[in-house]
This record gives sequence, structure tokens and C-alpha cells, in this order.
Amino acid sequence: MSRISQRVDLIKPSATITVSARAMDLQAAGKDIVSLGFGEPDFDTPQHVKDAAIEAIRAGATKYTQVDGTPQLKAAIVAKFRRDNELEYEAGQILVSNGAKQSLYNLLVALLNPGDEVIVPAPYWVSYPDMVKLAGAEPVIIKGLPEHDYKITARELENTLTDATRLIILNSPSNPTGKVYSESEYRALGEVLTEYPKVFIACDDIYEHIYWGDGPYRTLLNVCPELASRTVVVNGVSKGYAMTGWRIGYAAGPEDVIKAMKKVQGQSTSCAGSVSQAAAAAALNGPQDCVEEMRQAFAERYQYFQAALNEIDGVDCPDCEGAFYAFPSFKGVIKARESLADDVALANWLLEHAGVSTVPGSAFGAPGHLRLSYAASLEYLEEAVRRIGGALNGG
Ligand code: PMP
Ligand code: GLU
Repeated sequence: MSRISQRVDLIKPSATITVSARAMDLQAAGKDIVSLGFGEPDFDTPQHVKDAAIEAIRAGATKYTQVDGTPQLKAAIVAKFRRDNELEYEAGQILVSNGAKQSLYNLLVALLNPGDEVIVPAPYWVSYPDMVKLAGAEPVIIKGLPEHDYKITARELENTLTDATRLIILNSPSNPTGKVYSESEYRALGEVLTEYPKVFIACDDIYEHIYWGDGPYRTLLNVCPELASRTVVVNGVSKGYAMTGWRIGYAAGPEDVIKAMKKVQGQSTSCAGSVSQAAAAAALNGPQDCVEEMRQAFAERYQYFQAALNEIDGVDCPDCEGAFYAFPSFKGVIKARESLADDVALANWLLEHAGVSTVPGSAFGAPGHLRLSYAASLEYLEEAVRRIGGALNGG
């Protein structure tokens, strides 16, 4: 019998973290690895944000803060939602956590009972299904089809909702596909959800700023404000402000749910780091041109990388409108090689023969694909393409 709890025995380690740890180990052992596995901006945190953190340390902001975040950061988040998203929240509707990841986890623990179902559209971010299981509930996957741009349709949603459905997790721009729900797609999903008043909605908008689609960025609540009483928006500073290591994310939603999430946080991590909260407030309140500069760089890399990947035989890299991941199908490559059984074998083969680290699509519920992060310089991406193309053509 396992010494470990059944809940933890049910889950896998995060594939994105495992892959990047492997790449780091190989690099530490002196191997020349091009690492496209981990999803974090390669840019440094903007200087004015670092300065605000140093100032906070000097001013003695080095103690526990309120469980749900400092009043300054919560005010900055309320102002951010008004400025960027045309959404109005009170301070009591905001919770600051150690990353959007913890906000999501708090939400799942606060909402879910055993036997509850949570709808997770695939391809999904690796952590959603396992977080749902950790919270004692059941992930129910809807496969977003290539012909629907890897997004789910209203009909598919309707066919999957049951009396046991408690929550759906939406993520746009998506990790790993970079696809974005349009207003009309959100409206169609919202119309179905209106018929199921017991179902909550989590909108993971963490890639909001890394977006180059037509028209302004839209979240579900812009299109379906009537769902506000059961929608929790999750966001953070990790991606848009290049602040992954500072570990600040936040959630906004109905006060009773936020209060329950705060209770979970108060019994687990107490609060997010005080210095990081000061830095996050500076990021949200300060000049926003750094966000735009990084967005433009990601868009330029996307243009190059998608085209270059599509030049490789057997690779099909679809268009996308945001985030910083290419999620091409390598089915043509796998089919052409008997020695490669699937995307996991291919990712291992590329690591060994091309020295390129990627994440297998099956970790995102989409076998046959690989995820390659383009949060890296153009030169680095050119080298990755040279290596992948060279290994596949020569091997
Ligand atoms: N959601 C998605 C879709 C992500 O890719 C990430 C990246 N780790 C997160 C949430 C969590 O971000 P963080 O905890 O760094 O705020
Ligand atoms: N979200 C990033 C990724 O998908 C960071 C790693 C993680 O937290 O999973 O690679």
C-alpha cells in the first residue's frame, strides 16, 4: 500500500516543470540544450518594478500582509480591471495569491465537493486536470477540434454539462494553443451557461497582454456580464510584466466565493510575499509601455517561428493570436518514422538528437503535438529550427 495519500497518488508531476528541470540538469552537465519547454518570458522584470521592490524592503515592508493582499495592491488590481477590462470590482471581491496558480487552486478547493465535475477544454494547460483531482473532483475533458481552432463550441458544451457539473475553466489566449475566443464564440458559450445557473466559470486570462488578434482583448464578462455572479477571473503579473519569480497572481469574483478562497489561503500560505506585492502594485500602476514592447516582440517571434516550423516536413503549425507557444502537429513526422511511437517518444528523441527541449502534446490532452515556447530571442529560435529541421532530415 502506498504511504502517500490517494489524492496525491492520483496526480502526475507538472509536465512543463519536469521538462524544464530535465533541460536544466542537462545544461548543468555541460550539454548544449536549446530549451523551449518552459513557459516564461525571457525578458527581465522592468527596472521601475525592481526599484519599487527595493524601496519596499528599505521601508520595512517585510512582514506578513493581509491574507487577501495589501490594500495598495488590491486598489491597483481594481484600477487595472477598470482600465484594461472595463470591469468594476470592490476591494472585497479581490484576492491576491502566490501566483495565478494558487488563485486557481484556492478556487477549486473553495468550490468543489467529491463527485463534482469540472469541464476542462483540451488542449488544456497541464495543471488544470490534476488540480481538479487534488481538490477531490473529476475533470471532464471536451476536446477542442482543429477544425474549430482547438476551441470548444456551444453544442459541445451543452452535450457535456450534467447535473454534476460545478465549474468550467476557460483560458484565452490559451496555453498551449495561443487561440483566443472571439466575442461571438464567448456569447454562444454564455447563452448555454445561462441555462445552467449552478455552474461556475473560471476565466484564466493570464495571457491577456500577449495578444495580437483583431480588435481589443475581450474576456467572457465583457460579452456576458449577466454571468458575473458566478464567474471568477484569474490573472496575474507573471506573463504580461515578466514577473514569474515574484509569484503574484489574483482572482476577482463574487464576494462569497472570494471569501471562501481567502479562508483556504489563510490556512495554507497566509498571504503572498510582501515585497512582491509592492512590486506588483508598481507594475500595475506604473507606465505600461514595457507591456506593449514585450507584446510586440512576442508577435514578431510568432511571425518568424510559425512560418519556420511550417517549412519542416510533416509539421503543421496553426495560426494563433496570443500567448507565446507554438503548438504544431508533428503527426506527419511521427507517422513517417517507425521508431517514434508518439509525441512523448518524439520529444525525447529531439532532446537527445537535436538538443532541443519541448513539451509533448499529450501532457495538454493533445497527442501528436509538441509545445514549443517562443519566449526566447529570434537567434535562439533560429537555432532551434535549424536543429529540429537538421535532426529530422538527417535522422
Ligand atoms: N494559467 C496558465 C494558463 C499558465 O500558463 C500559467 C503559467 N504558469 C498560470 C496560470 C500560472 O501563472 P502564475 O502562477 O505564474 O501566475
Ligand atoms: N505556465 C508555464 C508553462 O506552462 C509555467 C510552468 C507552469 O507553471 O506550469 O510552462
